[in-house]
Amino acid sequence: MNHSEPFAKIPATLIEGDGIGPEIMDAAVRILEALGAPFEWHSCKAGMAGVKECGDPLPPAAIESIRKTGLALKGPLETPVGGGYRSSNVRLREEFHLYANVRPALTLMPGGRYENIDLVTIRENVEGMYVGFEHYIPIGDDEHAVAIGSGVNTRAGCRRIANFAYEYAVNNGRKKITIVHKANILKALTGLFLETAKEVGRSYEDRIKTEDRIVDACAMQLVLNPWQFDVIVTTNLFGDILSDEIAGLVERLGMAPGTNIGDGAAIFETVHGSAPDIAGKGIANPLALILASAMMLSHAGRHDLAGRLRTAIHETLNTDSIRTKDLGGSASTRQFADALIRRVS
Ligand code: NAD
Repeated sequence: MNHSEPFAKIPATLIEGDGIGPEIMDAAVRILEALGAPFEWHSCKAGMAGVKECGDPLPPAAIESIRKTGLALKGPLETPVGGGYRSSNVRLREEFHLYANVRPALTLMPGGRYENIDLVTIRENVEGMYVGFEHYIPIGDDEHAVAIGSGVNTRAGCRRIANFAYEYAVNNGRKKITIVHKANILKALTGLFLETAKEVGRSYEDRIKTEDRIVDACAMQLVLNPWQFDVIVTTNLFGDILSDEIAGLVERLGMAPGTNIGDGAAIFETVHGSAPDIAGKGIANPLALILASAMMLSHAGRHDLAGRLRTAIHETLNTDSIRTKDLGGSASTRQFADALIRRVS
């Protein structure tokens, strides 16, 4: 795939997702069209929509499409809790070795609980507690008397995510990396992560400051003084939890985008899920997916369009004061998208 020619069409996979997915994806795609984004979409189903249409939460057609395009915009995918099929998101990460999950959190509207938040979480995405090594041990007639789960971190995996985080920091003008771990208790599993990330940090010490925090202390400090953080790099489970906490610092989940990056593919998505409680009501906030689209434009080399989109978002929220219900406004998903389209046009 050649991303260097600025006006070339860029093939990309589009998975609208479950719940509010189709509503927010419609908004994102209309805005990208109005912006003149060069994506040529290949639409596929996954999640519950994949089960309904193809009997598979991650149908082969979706995998094949991402393998060809190496680029995808994905709405939230539903995962049954406590049983049923395995998360399609986790399967996608494994299938394409999407080892880095990047979640920027930036204050978009003044007047919130915290002003001027600008920090990025880089989460290791394929190892740790999410490898899915889990089983029950039955005792007597209780099939689930004991539950056992193991985590796996490898030195190679820790080094890969640490290298990614430091390179990200250098390329994005960041100054400091905080390595977050629980090496005081999970001495092997997260001790290896800390040791390896620190070792990588030493080769960047002239450009990037390194510090480390135990995850529970970090969670508290994020609430007390989030401005002390710049880039956080952490293991899979801690990154999952902290990035939602950090999304809460910049208002709501509906504003938080994320990217999953591997050597052969990049998938852009929302941090939030399929929001079944508001699905079909036309009130979902499409911003997280639109911000994910802006990250996708930058990734594809179209920083010009990404910049225009971010400016239009700022103007729609703060000059036009058009906001969805979760942000205290009254605009529907469609009305918000229309307002943003007027700004990008
Ligand atoms: P959720 O993020 O879907 O919803 C949490 C709360 O936030 C709900 O009250 C919801 O209405 C609200 N919310 C979320 N997105 C919003 C938006 N764009 N606009 C306005 N309000 C919004 O979390 P959940 O309910 O725990 O999960 C629902 C489903 O989503 C589950 O099946 C879960 O596995 C899945 N999930 C998918 C992803 C993903 O695909 N990236 C991420 C998280 C959860």
